[in-house]
Order: sequence, then C-alpha cells, then structure tokens
Amino acid sequence: MSAKTLDAIHSEVIACTKCRELRRYCAQVATEKKRAYRGLTYWGKPVPGFGDPNARVLLVGLAPGAHGSNRTGRPFTGDASGDFLYPALHRAGFANQATVSHADDGLQLHDTYITAALRCAPPQNKPTPSQLRKCFPYLVREVEALGRLRVVIGLGAIGTRAAIEALQAAGYSLSTKRWRFGHGAELTATKGKRVVTLISSFHPSRQNTNTGKLTRAMFDAIFTRAGELLAV
Ligand code: SF4
Repeated sequence: MSAKTLDAIHSEVIACTKCRELRRYCAQVATEKKRAYRGLTYWGKPVPGFGDPNARVLLVGLAPGAHGSNRTGRPFTGDASGDFLYPALHRAGFANQATVSHADDGLQLHDTYITAALRCAPPQNKPTPSQLRKCFPYLVREVEALGRLRVVIGLGAIGTRAAIEALQAAGYSLSTKRWRFGHGAELTATKGKRVVTLISSFHPSRQNTNTGKLTRAMFDAIFTRAGELLAV
C-alpha cells in the first residue's frame, strides 16, 4: 500500500508545475549547466522522495540543490550535503553504501525515506513561503503513506518546520509551546496509539559542515538517537 501510494505521489511530483517560476529556473539551470557537468544530462524536473516505502524513519530536507539533485534527480545526490549525509546514514546502518554519485549508483536505504519541504531547486536555496505552501501537500501525503513511521528527522529549520506542520496536518497531536529549533531537540507527536518522535538537526549544508557548526559526531548522534527510538 505504502509503495503504491508513494509511487503515485512521485509521478505527480515529477509532473508538477504549480510554481511556474521554479520550473522555469530549474529548466534554465538544466540547460545552461555548471562547467564541470557540461557533458551530463540534468534531470531538471521536480525531485520526488526516495527510500524504503516501509520506512520507520523519515528525513525532511530543504530543497534540491541546483546542481545537486536538480541534476541527478534523487534527493541529496550530487552535492556536498549528500556527501555528508549518506556516509552518516551508512555508518548508522540506514544505507547500503556511503558514496553516492547518481540515481543508478545502487544506493538502497533501509528503514529510511528521504524527502524535502520543496521539490524544485529555488534560486539561492531560498524558497518563498508561497512556494513552500504549494509543495506542502506532497509532504503531508508522504507522512500519511508511511504507515510504520516512528521517527521524523528535520534537517535544518525550514525542513523541521515543514515536518512539524506535516505531522499536524496528517492528524498528529503535538505541542510546540516550549520547543525551539536546535540540534537534537525532540518533540513527541501522537495519533491514537501511534507515537512519532521528531528530532531536529542542523542541515548538512557545506555552510554548516565547513564551519564546524555541524560535525560528523554531532550528525552521527542524531542517527544513533533514531536507532535508539526504533529499538524501544
Ligand atoms: S516546488 Fe513543489 S509545488 Fe512547486 S512546482 Fe515544484 S513540485 Fe510543484
């Protein structure tokens, strides 16, 4: 059921044209290309989620990078953020390989699904509130489709905010009264007997990893905590 529903969402996402300015921008980037990738064909379309349809862990990022997943068509593939994320997932046992390069590189995620608040690369990596609103229903439907969900990891403040709102829109109760975004901050969401823990993390962008704001140990701690929650 999850797999079929997620496949249907993927098809809709790939064909989506709700943000015309983003579609134009992504297509333009895909045509002009970065010098280093001149010989390659860019994906250039909205980037659907990726991973295990039976996942208990959901990662919510910000948006595709113009020359990262807008080029490769898979979240966090082909840019510095992915080069930091996938080795961490591999160390924690959530991915079968640490190195990723393109959509057919053999990567498989175990018990993990990756998506984003926005599925088209925005200029300067800065989505507008209107673009986030238009893309939001896809995230809600992914949350609903993941029937075994136990842990949601928000990557960065925007990804985390989208994840919280998607849980609420999907019928989960949670309170953000005393909660503030921070690395490792947690929230508990409930829906009947189901309990989902949201963990927020700094985004693995080059800006954070190059400055030491997010270290390998800090990032590993997020996935160790996710593993602990799954083991309960
Ligand atoms: S950002 Fe989302 S809503 Fe906007 S065009 Fe892309 S897929 Fe559609």
